[in-house]
Amino acid sequence: MATVFLETITIMSITGRNVHIKTFGCQMNKLDSALVEAGLRNAGFELVGSVKEADVVLFNTCSVRDHAEQRVLSHLGHLKHIKESKPDFVVGVIGCMAQRLGVELFKQPAVDIVCGPMQIAHIPRLIEQAMKEKKKALLVTEEIRKASSDGQELERFETEFGIDDAEIPGQAFVRAMHGCDKFCSYCVVPYVRGKETSRPPEAIIEQIKKLADNGIKQVTLLGQRINAYEYKTGDKTYCLADLLYMAGEVAGIEWLRFVTSYPSEKYFDEIMKAMCAVPKVCRYLHLPAQSGSDKILKMMNRGYTSAEYLGLLDIARQIVPDISIAGDFIVGFPNETDDDFTQTVGLLKKSKYKNSFIFKYSPRPGTVADKRLEDNIPMDIKNKRNIELLKIQEQISGDLASEFVGKTVKILVEGPSKKSRRSIEDKPGDLQLIGRTAGDWIVVFDGPETLAGKFANVGITRTSPLTLFGNLV
Ligand code: SF4
Repeated sequence: MATVFLETITIMSITGRNVHIKTFGCQMNKLDSALVEAGLRNAGFELVGSVKEADVVLFNTCSVRDHAEQRVLSHLGHLKHIKESKPDFVVGVIGCMAQRLGVELFKQPAVDIVCGPMQIAHIPRLIEQAMKEKKKALLVTEEIRKASSDGQELERFETEFGIDDAEIPGQAFVRAMHGCDKFCSYCVVPYVRGKETSRPPEAIIEQIKKLADNGIKQVTLLGQRINAYEYKTGDKTYCLADLLYMAGEVAGIEWLRFVTSYPSEKYFDEIMKAMCAVPKVCRYLHLPAQSGSDKILKMMNRGYTSAEYLGLLDIARQIVPDISIAGDFIVGFPNETDDDFTQTVGLLKKSKYKNSFIFKYSPRPGTVADKRLEDNIPMDIKNKRNIELLKIQEQISGDLASEFVGKTVKILVEGPSKKSRRSIEDKPGDLQLIGRTAGDWIVVFDGPETLAGKFANVGITRTSPLTLFGNLV
């Protein structure tokens, strides 16, 4: 049996249909939330921007780090008080934390609905049920690795509602794959997102065409290991490079991106060649290394050595000379010695990333690293290593950024920058806007808000390690 339904505690009926969704975690979760929002609108619910206006609150959760889970638990604690004064209120926990903790989440008095990431297609029905039948509901996959029926339902939901995603004007995410089969020893994703499955190319391209018809300019193909995309039909096996060629033909779409890539030789050359050959494919690669020590990479079950990783960066730069590359690292993995860390520093220096995301190791329940390895690197050492890597990366990023001064870059404008809605030069009618280059550099400049979702050219006048500043050309 793939799913279970639990009916335990009666709740009061509600009349309102205002739903607020708060999303934690990665782009996969943002995409899931966009799908749920579209499905809820279709079912007659209204989406609202705050808990205060809501009759139903959903938390779309992340389990990758303990901190993200603790934040959700703290929010649930606050909602308990709201629920005491507003008993008709419905609260749901969806996503990875729901899958990981299941029925345990009902220990939180506020929680009425718990729904895993493979079952989001059922959320409108679960809310209706919570409202009408006044029951708590659990819908998670018992054996996530075998959740094929949930996968079919999700595919139907995705095809039907995968056109309604406009968190950033002009941009949308399209899922190419579900799940992950890699089982890196520290990672909870394979346990909560299930088996690696690639969606049919025709469904993906259909979705991209609909997005283009809706005015979307940039599509990002998503997968936990997007470069492992593989779909067999008849004699043909489609890989990510095929998808890029096909998506590159869709009129109206101007930029294509894909995240996140995994350091593996399979299809790597083909994908880099597609990046070079298809003008719409942004010349940007996010390729997490995690460590520069072969000993640590082995303990992480990453399946490559630091030399093999650097070899992939060489291939990428040979085929796409102006490629912009980002990396990820985990510092303080169990048994990481000073020497292991020095090797990571060496890899970071050689990699010349545009930016990198650096995380301090924290054990996740149920993973192999948690079961077999002691979290034996003290927090002060993790902090020190984190700061050291950030400092080196800042230097590299600053040098790369400074090369843009005096150049004009094409950007897709996202909208007003979050920190300041005032224009840099206080020009009437202008705001401080933010956009990104094809190589994923953040660009800040003054302009009218109407540029959001459109392309613009900006002449760069100054830079900081992570940001380019300039004027509209
Ligand atoms: S590739 Fe490794 S780190 Fe990435 S999602 Fe899969 S198991 Fe997690």
